[in-house]
Amino acid sequence: MLPSSTVENYLKAIFHGQLLLPADIRLVPMGQVAAALNVTPGTATTMVKALAESDLAEYEPYTGVRLTPAGEKLAVLVLRRHRLVELFLVQVMGMSWAEVHDEAEQLEHVVSERLIERIDEMLGRPTRDPHGDPIPTAEGAITPIHHQNLLTCPIGTPLKVTRIADQDPAFLRFIENNGLKPGQSIEVETRDAAADSVKLRGRNLLSITIGARAASKLLVEVERP
Ligand SMILES: [Zn+2]
Repeated sequence: MLPSSTVENYLKAIFHGQLLLPADIRLVPMGQVAAALNVTPGTATTMVKALAESDLAEYEPYTGVRLTPAGEKLAVLVLRRHRLVELFLVQVMGMSWAEVHDEAEQLEHVVSERLIERIDEMLGRPTRDPHGDPIPTAEGAITPIHHQNLLTCPIGTPLKVTRIADQDPAFLRFIENNGLKPGQSIEVETRDAAADSVKLRGRNLLSITIGARAASKLLVEVERP
């Protein structure tokens, strides 16, 4: 079976599912895979069985699925193409940070290895995409990043935004308009558990209050002076 765009999207969905699994769970539930790809459970099962036959995944009926090392490698290379394309569209084409994800969803399946290598070289072998996600190497190595989010980070401590864990254009524009893009310095002033909100301040900005859901998608690291 050749890695078509459908196969690649399944590999990505299972890979992302694996990253979110609790430590004691090995397999990504099939319902989760189907929901991520917006297909029926029956469709997802048929496809996952085909992946298993191609040795890209391990499938256990009624339990779930997990990628084999070969499947993981392919998934990571799709992520590499996606993230390099996003960075290229922002840095070279001047496209909006908030809009490039959907373009990359298409282009990740069609750009050649040769073109991706050229883009990687031209951009100076970058390690992060415009949303702060790590860019895997051509060998398929990916550096896991352990971030805190605005619900778990220390209060009253200088922080650097490292990653936005959401690709929704409206949310990304909100982030941009409020000076909260990766690389910006911010500080949490207070957390209000009753109101489910977080009040924060940028270095030169007024305080803004955001909801807990938005706060959980803003990943940060403590800034070292
Ligand atoms: Zn993206």
